[in-house]
Amino acid sequence: MMNGTEYVESLKKRKPRIFYRGKLLEAPYEHPALAPHVRTAAMTYDLAAGGEHDDIMTATSSLDGAKISRFTHLFMSPEDLVRKIAMLRLVGRETGTCFQRCVGLDGINAIWSVAYDIDQAKGTQYQRRFREYLLRLQREDLMSAGAMTDPKGDRSLPPWQQADPDLYVRIVGRRPDGIVIRGAKTHITGAANSHEILVMPTLGLPPEGADYAVTCAVPIDAPGLSVVFGRQSNDERKEEEGRFDCGTPYGIVGGESTLIFEDVFVPNERVFMAGEGEFAGALVERFSAWHRANYGGCKGGNADVLLGATALLAEIHGTIKNAIVRDKLTEIVHLVETNFAGAIGSSALGKRLPAGNWLVDPLLANTVKQNVTRFVYQVARLAHDIAGGLLSTLPSDADFQGEEMGGLLVKYFAGKKGFSTEDKRKLCRYIEGMTSVSTLVEALHGAGSPQAQRIVMLRQADVAEKMKQARKVIGLDEGK
Ligand code: SF4
Ligand code: FE
Repeated sequence: MMNGTEYVESLKKRKPRIFYRGKLLEAPYEHPALAPHVRTAAMTYDLAAGGEHDDIMTATSSLDGAKISRFTHLFMSPEDLVRKIAMLRLVGRETGTCFQRCVGLDGINAIWSVAYDIDQAKGTQYQRRFREYLLRLQREDLMSAGAMTDPKGDRSLPPWQQADPDLYVRIVGRRPDGIVIRGAKTHITGAANSHEILVMPTLGLPPEGADYAVTCAVPIDAPGLSVVFGRQSNDERKEEEGRFDCGTPYGIVGGESTLIFEDVFVPNERVFMAGEGEFAGALVERFSAWHRANYGGCKGGNADVLLGATALLAEIHGTIKNAIVRDKLTEIVHLVETNFAGAIGSSALGKRLPAGNWLVDPLLANTVKQNVTRFVYQVARLAHDIAGGLLSTLPSDADFQGEEMGGLLVKYFAGKKGFSTEDKRKLCRYIEGMTSVSTLVEALHGAGSPQAQRIVMLRQADVAEKMKQARKVIGLDEGK
């Protein structure tokens, strides 16, 4: 396993094409836009290598028995699923933001299970290939980004009927030694600072969409791959001197990128689905279930920091003992722990897949994510309510440092004795970032938009069976 410093050094050995605000970055991992996200991902390495949280952060590989980071582990029992949620809560509270590595983790598990299913049905060798690939990922402790969402163009049309056929990633060439892919993937968390990109289809595909049924692994610096790092709320602050107005050194959300594949060659040993569209739906569903359950863990960890920051600000304001403020803090606790309970519950009720790894309960997992789409907004509203209008109007750090006005600003923004104006500003900036548009939209659409969960929820709830049960309990005649 690597520690955080080794992870950063390993990134620097790669030569990816990463663009930000119109420029190709020469030293991308040191650029102020990316550096906070690199730092956050580095924390996942430090926490695993540190030895203090071994039971949560590390696991025994099911492939070769070695000690590995849990971020590269197959979920081999309900206990593994529960420990994963515990890990996400832990890293979420140590960084206070998205630490990016869970998408690749869930991608690994989805690909493993579906590769097995395809092999069973079609006599292919995908799982053997993936096993070799995963062993390398585990041994070298590589960070992989899961790349599922395509740009989708006109959403009323399937991929193969789009005016531009490249609007979903597809196979444009088949060679004896591999395939060539073209297209783009959007909103890809942690992609710029990952070693590997796991490309996966975004929907189930009938035979006419076979070219779009592609699962493969692409190194971040593969020829033909370009990464365009996205903008976030208040991102210009990252380039200000001292970066005080950023809140924390860890950034907000997951440093999402758009990935553009311009005829990227992928050798056979990195291809795990190439045309078997009837298995793409299962891959998406399993990946989504795992990833939706995650949000009860990581957002819980983030909310631990947000709740703490809000309570500290209430203390500075002198309102912490007010019964109404305390009730609002209680409401935050209620929302966060409801989600955490759902994530743990969906893990405890997991089921074994034919490939041997375990899937969370999809109904509970989707319910968790559906709750997150509301609760994160509600938590943000409560934090805004307690913190006050300062979140929106606080002068910049440059003003507080200014020769003429700095002293007066410090004087007039004083709070409770024992706290500095700087403390107060730092807390405001963290709360501002973690309740900003980027953060809220990530909670709404990350791991799938609200409606995507509702479709699974209704299907999983089996209403017909419940109608039958109601008939039985209430005593209705059969067949009426
Ligand atoms: Fe992990 Fe949460 Fe970030 Fe998704 S949003 S990558 S689950 S920390
Ligand atoms: Fe996310």
